[in-house]
Amino acid sequence: MSENFDVIVIGGGPAGYPAAIRAGQNKLSVACIDEWKNRDGSTAFGGTCLNAGCIPSKALLESSELYHRALHEFAVHGVKLDGVAFDVGAMQKRKAGIVRQSTAGILALFKGAGVTALTGHGRLLAGRKVEFIGHDGSKRTLQAKHVVLASGSEPMPLRGVTFDGDRIVDSWGALDFTEVPKRLCVIGAGVIGLELGSVWRRLGAETVVLEALPQLLPMADAQLAKEAARHFKKQGLDIRLGAKVSGAAIEKDGVHVSYTDGQGAQTLVVDRLIVAIGRRPFTKDLLGDGTGVVLDERGFIQVDDHCRTGAEGVWAVGDCVRGPMLAHKGKEEGVAVADLIAGQYGHVNYKTIPSVIYTAPEIAWVGQTEEQVKAAGRTYKTGSFPFAASGRARAMEAGAGFCKVIADAGSDEILGIHIIGPMAGELIAEAVLAMEYSASSEDLQRTIHAHPTLSEAVHEAALAVDKRAIDIPNR
Ligand code: FAD
Ligand code: AMP
Repeated sequence: MSENFDVIVIGGGPAGYPAAIRAGQNKLSVACIDEWKNRDGSTAFGGTCLNAGCIPSKALLESSELYHRALHEFAVHGVKLDGVAFDVGAMQKRKAGIVRQSTAGILALFKGAGVTALTGHGRLLAGRKVEFIGHDGSKRTLQAKHVVLASGSEPMPLRGVTFDGDRIVDSWGALDFTEVPKRLCVIGAGVIGLELGSVWRRLGAETVVLEALPQLLPMADAQLAKEAARHFKKQGLDIRLGAKVSGAAIEKDGVHVSYTDGQGAQTLVVDRLIVAIGRRPFTKDLLGDGTGVVLDERGFIQVDDHCRTGAEGVWAVGDCVRGPMLAHKGKEEGVAVADLIAGQYGHVNYKTIPSVIYTAPEIAWVGQTEEQVKAAGRTYKTGSFPFAASGRARAMEAGAGFCKVIADAGSDEILGIHIIGPMAGELIAEAVLAMEYSASSEDLQRTIHAHPTLSEAVHEAALAVDKRAIDIPNR
């Protein structure tokens, strides 16, 4: 096998593997190195997202939601079920199958695009050389014209809390519980904490979420965050804001979690503790001496707007660089870099990266929140439409939530779209497309939406911007 490549990608997650595939499509010779090992020792491409993040979490969210609906909602539809029960083992087996299918798919895609897959550790050396150490211990030095670093991220540890892989776990461990904990604590009410808390709460765990900040989902539009808090409370998620965790100890009667809140020092005793306080870039043993690649003070690889590091021919994409830690952001960066390397056009519009929280109801947005627009001093108008007024949502028994469109008061350009409600994560795609094309709210108003669909909520919210909604009174 050749030791020379046009492109070597280090990291085979959702940022690295699309970079490799696009480089192959661009007729460049390319290798992708990935060191991921599953708990059983097997290797797999796909990184955190496919193996321990997006995909397994969504599999369990779906299963637990179906159980929850069978228990609480089917009767409303006139569907009668006796003895509704669940089997965590079967849920986990299904999840593992989906993960296997997804990761195996990457190898098939690599084959199709002519990508050389190498499982083991990659380390960038000076002069775009890459040291590759296979999982079998074999060592080789490869040479590339371009190197793409896509080494991803890892869970942030919390001082005073030691993972034991059983009672105290990170998000990966929380996806692998073999039984439902009776008492569960999640530290961090971020996206990951809320999703994992939801899974186990729906299956019956008494779930307390401790969040240091005084506000829930501060990055979301305040109206959405308020609506979300109402639903989480109704679902029995006990979210305690302003609760800063300082330590945890495993005792005979459970895990003792120490935190302070407005009332002073508190202790909570639970059966299992999930630490979900965020993620940090992972660059361990990635860079040899004299590469010219620089890390910033938080450990991210420094890049410019086009993902170029300071070193000639070395690029970095995904969670290991600035910007939101999202799979689709990394994918766009990986593809853009592979196109730039091939001399083509490559660009990521960081202003239109959608955010989705896969709770029930789902929460999704793109662009600026009302608070951000206000703080920027811009004059604006908003239109909202509640799903309770959508025929399709009512037919689905899913009338909770709303869609909100924010547009510039003068130009009518859409500045942000915020959705909490059924399939919000799917509905937001239209909003992203609209903003990508710098659409006005009138553009959305004049776009036909099929009836009856949930997407009509986006249409009606756009109409409401100019007080021209049809299916709700305009105020
Ligand atoms: P990673 O996916 O972390 O992949 C990096 C890969 O590089 C890994 O396989 C690693 O082993 C390998 N690697 C690192 N260093 C080396 C080296 N030196 N040599 C060889 N290999 C190396 N994002 C979303 O957009 N939507 C979601 O729904 C979502 N849900 C999530 C749920 C959970 C529980 C978690 C933890 C994360 C979730 N995320 C979600 C975030 C998402 O997983 C990350 O943003 C995404 O995986 C980042 O992709 P990446 O390719 O940059 O890094
Ligand atoms: P995210 O960064 O979106 O994954 O969310 C992680 C959340 O964890 C943030 O909302 C943080 O405020 C929260 N957090 C971080 N440290 C602590 C802590 N010691 N106790 C409670 N919450 C924390």
